[in-house]
Amino acid sequence: MLESFVRLWHMGAGAGKVACRASLLFPGFSMSLSAAQIVSALADIVGSAHVVGEVEKMGAWLNEPRKRFHTTAAAVVTPPDVAAVQAVLRWANQNRVAIIPQGGNTGLVGAQVPLRGDEVIMSLARLDRIRSVDSAAGVMVAEAGVILENAHKAAEAAGTIFPLWLASQGSARIGGVLSSNAGGVNVLAYGNARELTMGVEAVLADGRLYHGLNALKKDNTGYDLKDLLVGAEGTLGIITAASLKLYPLPEDYETALVNVASPDAALDLFQLMRQRAGGRLNAFELIPHIGLDIQLRHGMLDADPTASASPWYALIEMSRMAGSAPGALQSALEAAFEENLIADATIAESLADRTRMWAFREQMSECQSREGASIKHDVSVPIAAIPALIREGSAAAEKLVPGIRPVPFGHMGDGNIHFNFSMPLGADPKAFMAQYDEAMHEVIYEVVLRHGGSVSAEHGIGQLKVDLLQRVKDPVALEMMRAIKFALDPNGILNPGKMLRTVP
Ligand SMILES: Cc1cc2nc3c(=O)[nH]c(=O)nc-3n(C[C@H](O)[C@H](O)[C@H](O)COP(=O)(O)OP(=O)(O)OC[C@H]3O[C@@H](n4cnc5c(N)ncnc54)[C@H](O)[C@@H]3O)c2cc1C
Repeated sequence: MLESFVRLWHMGAGAGKVACRASLLFPGFSMSLSAAQIVSALADIVGSAHVVGEVEKMGAWLNEPRKRFHTTAAAVVTPPDVAAVQAVLRWANQNRVAIIPQGGNTGLVGAQVPLRGDEVIMSLARLDRIRSVDSAAGVMVAEAGVILENAHKAAEAAGTIFPLWLASQGSARIGGVLSSNAGGVNVLAYGNARELTMGVEAVLADGRLYHGLNALKKDNTGYDLKDLLVGAEGTLGIITAASLKLYPLPEDYETALVNVASPDAALDLFQLMRQRAGGRLNAFELIPHIGLDIQLRHGMLDADPTASASPWYALIEMSRMAGSAPGALQSALEAAFEENLIADATIAESLADRTRMWAFREQMSECQSREGASIKHDVSVPIAAIPALIREGSAAAEKLVPGIRPVPFGHMGDGNIHFNFSMPLGADPKAFMAQYDEAMHEVIYEVVLRHGGSVSAEHGIGQLKVDLLQRVKDPVALEMMRAIKFALDPNGILNPGKMLRTVP
């Protein structure tokens, strides 16, 4: 690997190019301007009202949800339009100033916040226009700063849906959602952010604008640059707008919370539901009983949403399109009863029931913080391996930390489990994390990789998993990723140190 990197490094002929690559070799090498000079230059480009230089005023951009990353930035800049994004990048590239694009700052791997302290955070929040909605063609063009929930509203106003739902949708913005290739609860039916994106408009590191806002279903004219920029965590370009796929608005949703004896039983039930519902099966989420126990104990639910106590629950949702008869979920559940796959279930009879069931699912992550420290893994395996993952991972964790409480939950239909562990009752949170965080990751990732899985299903790499990716990803894939990074961002100014270590 090192050999190929050196080869790449020597490819550049001019001294300038060598210096560019040297800046990637030594993160921090490029910083030659003081923070005051950076603030002043940015103010000249976007106006001083849209540049923040005082660290004590940067809280909204620095404080991230995991509360794990605490480095400050040289400045925060909020450009008003695409031309200003281009101007800032042109200047940053010339002056080797690192830029971190930021949307709603809800990312869970520290990709949107500083790593070194000399970076400029560029918030895309002011690019918040819905440029167009074409319900007949099924395409909406939204700017990077549009809040996901507002994109939902714009789609629904036109009788359609943009079917990407996350618990963070009130804050997450289109640019961030695409750049982290977010998943959420409807991937089963509609795919993740990448599959919901038809094209992007993006500013490259040197300020050039890539006009990729196409809305074509078929376009075999070369590399898929959209797929490269989506999921790049802001390391290859800054997305300024995207053309997004819209789908017909369902007439109704049928939702149930089903008791299942084990993850194996849930897998059998999932197969049956898929056979019955096909593309109408929107969600199949697995939740362990401990999640209900914690939420009820902490008063997080106004009522118990389940039919009766069970070791596991499956939250199942189907969509019903106009003209089709209601009751598909009920008849599928009756078939499951007849095949002895399930013993009890409750079907939502009102919007309040449905909302409560989803609250139970959406609060799974938050409820663990009420129980002290927890160690988290966002992993995926082939769907058939989920029961083995949960069984083997839980056993290995319990061997490592007697009394630890496994809380595996999530998107079973996508093979994506949030394999989390709450500390043993009465443990000291700080001591627990200090002693077991790293060791637990090793144990769980070993099981995941043994089953052909991924160490990051939907949250990305950011700064949290850079070293891990380096260890587990195919070396040739890493070389290809580095080559792409060098080609598009030779000075290494775009979100340096995130996702990819440029030195093998
Ligand atoms: C409560 C909660 C629930 C969540 N649930 C889910 C879930 O179910 N599924 C899931 O996949 N994720 C989930 N997430 C994490 C998820 O990644 C984010 O919520 C969302 O996708 C990020 O959007 P954002 O605008 O906040 O991006 P940010 O956090 O601001 O940024 C994320 C990444 O995108 C880059 N970026 C931001 N804007 C741009 C741009 N315009 N151009 C280029 N790069 C850019 C950043 O540099 C960073 O690398 C959840 C997070 C929270 C807090």
